[in-house]
Parts: sequence; C-alpha cells; structure tokens
Amino acid sequence: MRPVSKGDTPLVAGFANYRESFDYLLDRIGIGEYQQIPLAQYCSYCERVMHTNLAVEHIEPKKGLYAKPLLKNTWSNFLLACVNCNSKKGSKRIQFNELYFPDRDNTFYAFEYSHTGTVNPRPSLNQAQKDIAQNTIDLVGLNDSIYADLTEVAKDRRTQRLNVYALALNSLEDLKSAPQNQAIHNLIVKGMLTSGYFSIWMKVFQGYPNIKNMFIDSIRGTRQSGCFDNNANPIFPHPNNDNLQLGGKI
Ligand SMILES: [Zn+2]
Repeated sequence: MRPVSKGDTPLVAGFANYRESFDYLLDRIGIGEYQQIPLAQYCSYCERVMHTNLAVEHIEPKKGLYAKPLLKNTWSNFLLACVNCNSKKGSKRIQFNELYFPDRDNTFYAFEYSHTGTVNPRPSLNQAQKDIAQNTIDLVGLNDSIYADLTEVAKDRRTQRLNVYALALNSLEDLKSAPQNQAIHNLIVKGMLTSGYFSIWMKVFQGYPNIKNMFIDSIRGTRQSGCFDNNANPIFPHPNNDNLQLGGKI
C-alpha cells in the first residue's frame, strides 16, 4: 500500500459535493506519469491500475451505523478506491488506532508482498503492529481470492499481483543484463506505471535504489509522503505532515 500525502485542502471554502474532489485527488495522489506523460491511475488500497471505476473513497463511511455525515465532504476523509476495495470496506466502523491508512501511516513499511500473490504484515513488525496490519488487509479484503466470488473476475487482486510479480522479475533480469542502460531503466519505470502494484516493484528492485527512487518520483503524492529516504528506504513513522487524526502509528 503506497503511502501518500494529500496536502492541505485545495478548496479553502470546502466542497459542496465530495465528487468535486475527484480531480484534485487524482492530481495530488492518483496519477503515475513518466516524463510528464500521465500513464495510469491507481487505487489507494490495492495499488491496481484503474482505467475506469476509480472513485472518491470515504475513509470514515458516509452512511450506515458508523457514518460520519459531517465528514462526507471533508478533504481529510478522502482517498481513491476501486470498486472492489470500496465495496469490501463498505460502511464498517473505522478506528484509526486499529488500522493503517496510506495518508497517515507508512503503509509501505507495514506490509510485505510475497511471490505467492498475498499481502502480509511485515515480519519485522511487533505483534501489536502485525495485528493492525492484518486488520487493514482484512478491511479491504486484499487477500480475497477469485474463489470468494466466481462471478467477479475483477475481484481477483491476488492473481493480478502474481502476474505483475512475474513481469517485475523479468524486468529485473533485463536490468541485470545491462545495469547502466538508461533505455532499460525507462522501460522498467513505464512497466511499473502501466501494470500498477508499486509495492511489488519496490520489493523486486530492492537492491537498486536508483530504480526505486524513479518509482517513488513517478507517482504523485509518494515522495511527498515523507516515507522514503534518499536511498529509497522506508522512513517510519510516517511524518504525518497533513496532521491527520492518529497519523504516524507506523
Ligand atoms: Zn482497490
């Protein structure tokens, strides 16, 4: 889960309707681009490329038993989500001390993406942190498999992750064959942007800080999160520069 910073609200007077925030969210945290050419946009939770059906996500629900209607049009309560993450999360109660969110925690550090396609709490976390990470995985169903719902192939974020993992490994072999070749560097960054799953590419290229820095700088809101140092290693806790509620837990 790529950590982001949204910055201050773009409309000081506030939003009359939350849908008005969509373009601002894309502009601040959603777009992946290479040499100023936008290539894709991503779900804030599962990191998938979403060509359509990306929506303004209310972190605290706008309806239901645990609704926070006062936050319905509030910038600090927005992220971007695909229909699968959004519908799985639904109107569940959000307790920030029991969950990690990409706009307030270093969610890159919280999770480990495995070659089997699953997302798990990072092994180096303590037990309390692992519990929070697992709560977050369960909240949006990051490990739900296609067998959970055979009628919705798009729900299969896990298999998509496997495919991207294989592509990233192939790209790593290309890099090893010509480590200084700038054209290969460019292709790798474009491959990451167009296939999504930032965290998988960061893991596969963990020994190549220059490539990782290119990844970090190519998706808006990522460098601004303050969660990566000059060598592209994770900084934690999240500095919570946006002063969000219970930010910086990890
Ligand atoms: Zn998603």
